[in-house]
Amino acid sequence: MRLTVRHIILAGALGMLGVHPALAAVVRVVTTTEDLASLTREVGGDKVEVTALAKGYQDPHFVEPKPSFILAVNRADLLIAVGRELEIGWLPTLISSARNAKIQPGAPGFLDASLNVKILEIPTGQITRAMGDVHPQGNPHYWLDPGNGRRIAQAIRDRLSQLSPADKASFAQRYDDFSSRLGAAEKRWDAMMAPYRGAKLVTYHRSWPNFMERWGLNVIGYVEPKPGIPAPPAHIIDLIEEMKRQNVKLIVVEPYFSLKTPQSIASKVDGTVLVLAPSVGGVKEATDYIQLFDYNVTQIASALKQATAR
Ligand SMILES: [Zn+2]
Repeated sequence: MRLTVRHIILAGALGMLGVHPALAAVVRVVTTTEDLASLTREVGGDKVEVTALAKGYQDPHFVEPKPSFILAVNRADLLIAVGRELEIGWLPTLISSARNAKIQPGAPGFLDASLNVKILEIPTGQITRAMGDVHPQGNPHYWLDPGNGRRIAQAIRDRLSQLSPADKASFAQRYDDFSSRLGAAEKRWDAMMAPYRGAKLVTYHRSWPNFMERWGLNVIGYVEPKPGIPAPPAHIIDLIEEMKRQNVKLIVVEPYFSLKTPQSIASKVDGTVLVLAPSVGGVKEATDYIQLFDYNVTQIASALKQATAR
């Protein structure tokens, strides 16, 4: 091919826009969490370029926005958020700083992943500050039910198809493939969890209602009495008494909380502390959405087996 002035001008213009001609059709997606990034990769394949903002080992309620976040959101074609106020402490400022009309809430380039999923713990009655950092629009940790993961993937498929209609068939095929792999994995997880239906445990934060409901586990208390509020000693004493009374031996903790209080509680009830991954990347084994459940289900089934064997 003979290089003409037009080619040079075109290449220069695309260079200035930061677009490589061969990659021009790729949808640039930014997600607030690694879970949403994993689901986007499942559906988008090589038609998307995905950046996750929060790491899976960080508390998604409290993320320190980095300058690289502004740059990523500024260049995004699609921003996908968990919603339900999970990111209220950091995402609104980021969206306004990024100066990108495409990804503003309400625009086709903004997707609130919570709109078509099953949401638990929607509060009734008045919410006050004394209740701590409650989840006023229901529990935002909803991705921890694989059924919701499938619904999120569906919403991503539909939005990517809207933004890049030429790749609609590819997104549909990749979604179907993901959904059937997830379905096979769910059968495996259900079989592993079946013996523990009705088992009781304690968790640190209210991160797990969807996960526990999915497999019929019963959370009888929280190390953190109210979300975001450190536990007063009286609460810990009550919790220890309740665990003894109901013979509860297992405390599940998210990787971003100190193990000191959970371990001290465990020592008083002859129990164990188990760190589970609330998100992809929360532990090194949780490399994608299906691996996240593989890890958590294997860990919790084995911990409950030990707890009931005593
Ligand atoms: Zn929360």
